[in-house]
Amino acid sequence: MDRSVTGRKAFSLPESDVPFQEMPDRAQMRDDLELPEVSQLEVIRYFSILSQRNFSIDTNFYPLGSCTMKYNPKINDELSNIPGLADLHPLQPQDTAQGAIRLLKELQDDLGEITGLPAVSLAPLAGAQGEYAGLLIARAYHEARNDTQRTVAIIPDSAHGTNPASATMAGLDVVTVGSDPNGNVDVSNLRELSDSRTAVFMLTIPSTLGLFEPNILEITEIIHNAGGLVYADGANLNALLGIVKLGDLGVDICHSNLHKTFSTPHGGGGPGSGPVMVSDVLAKFLPDPVAEKRDGRYILANPEQSIGSINGFHGSFSIAVRAYAYIKALGLEGLQSVSKNAIINANYVQTNLRDKYNLPVDRYCMHETVLSASRQKDRGIAGLDIAKRLLDFGIHAPTMYFPMIVDEALMIEPTESESKETLDHFIAVMKQIDDETVNNAELVSDAPHDLPVTRLDEASAARKPILRWSPVDLDDQ
Ligand SMILES: *Cc1c(COP(=O)(O)O)cnc(C)c1O
Repeated sequence: MDRSVTGRKAFSLPESDVPFQEMPDRAQMRDDLELPEVSQLEVIRYFSILSQRNFSIDTNFYPLGSCTMKYNPKINDELSNIPGLADLHPLQPQDTAQGAIRLLKELQDDLGEITGLPAVSLAPLAGAQGEYAGLLIARAYHEARNDTQRTVAIIPDSAHGTNPASATMAGLDVVTVGSDPNGNVDVSNLRELSDSRTAVFMLTIPSTLGLFEPNILEITEIIHNAGGLVYADGANLNALLGIVKLGDLGVDICHSNLHKTFSTPHGGGGPGSGPVMVSDVLAKFLPDPVAEKRDGRYILANPEQSIGSINGFHGSFSIAVRAYAYIKALGLEGLQSVSKNAIINANYVQTNLRDKYNLPVDRYCMHETVLSASRQKDRGIAGLDIAKRLLDFGIHAPTMYFPMIVDEALMIEPTESESKETLDHFIAVMKQIDDETVNNAELVSDAPHDLPVTRLDEASAARKPILRWSPVDLDDQ
């Protein structure tokens, strides 16, 4: 409104060549609705500048741990928009969508190959829904064997919050197993906890500390000997592609987020996809539908003893197309180099920052590193302040205060797509901020300084958000 100039317009229309007609009253615009009068160029500048006030992977380094905010080739978006794929209707006859169902079948096969768990359903719409489906499969398996007293899900204290939540939703009782000082599962504690009530043990691989579990073979054996199943949370497969197959480790069920590892960013606010992968024995319990090839035709089939449908239709198709394009374009060697570079980049950051930031578990990491701002906290500067200060340098904050077993956690996932120069810049900025916590603490505790909005009152922002412009707000300013 403050830019409005009476009579200025963003359009010009030719003289009308049809007779003038009065509009009926109810179709008239309200005369109390004031609209700004601005030129087209002003409108474009206004919205272009607004659109750039957000951080995005296309504009900023985005080391948000656990979320894999890497660069995803734009061509994969274009492919998912091909009219033959984008304009399909979920209810159209399967004979008229053979190519699309074939794509789903081939993606299932590729995900089965990557995880070593060959039976796949693409139905789940998020990582958490993949977990839920996988846990219902575990329950269905035990119930089918009349092993009905198995109602316990054992979950490490470092787990992603969705794990205990999904287990509870699936009707299981959650029992927590501790971590040892090296960030691994406390194996003797696990041995004590696993018994004839154990339905499933749920482990994030790599762990939320960004670490590989060295005792994994012993762990899967303990659980299998107790008659339970092993569930791997493979939401983020960025460290494992073409290097480790979860099935080879003794895992029975896993899910993966296509919207992390496979060409769709997490946290993009759009649809997600969390396929569930299982061993052959569990295939008959998968949620429907599962794409299959029978007698030369591709069909969407319902597994024999399916846990049922967990949403409408067959999952997020456009996300599946992106993942398919990504996997096919990279091939085995390409996928392996994704993981190797993700691991090297995370370790490069870890090695260069460990002098200034506490490294709670002193081991090489996988695709992400968890540092702690505990030293800075002793000087009165919290992890949150450091995250805010990073914004002044055009760097998105890392994931903070997670995993909860690390004090002042800063979970940094650089991803494979960043150059050494970007990582060096990030490292230099993190060192500078550490220096500021000693010499100029206010600069950090009051950050950000250079953004359109400075430090927010987070409680009010969450409880009383102002989501639209109103003239009253302007007058108040
Ligand atoms: C992201 C993530 C999830 C949950 O995925 P959503 O799609 O957000 O439901 C589960 N586990 C781990 C380890 C994750 O990183």
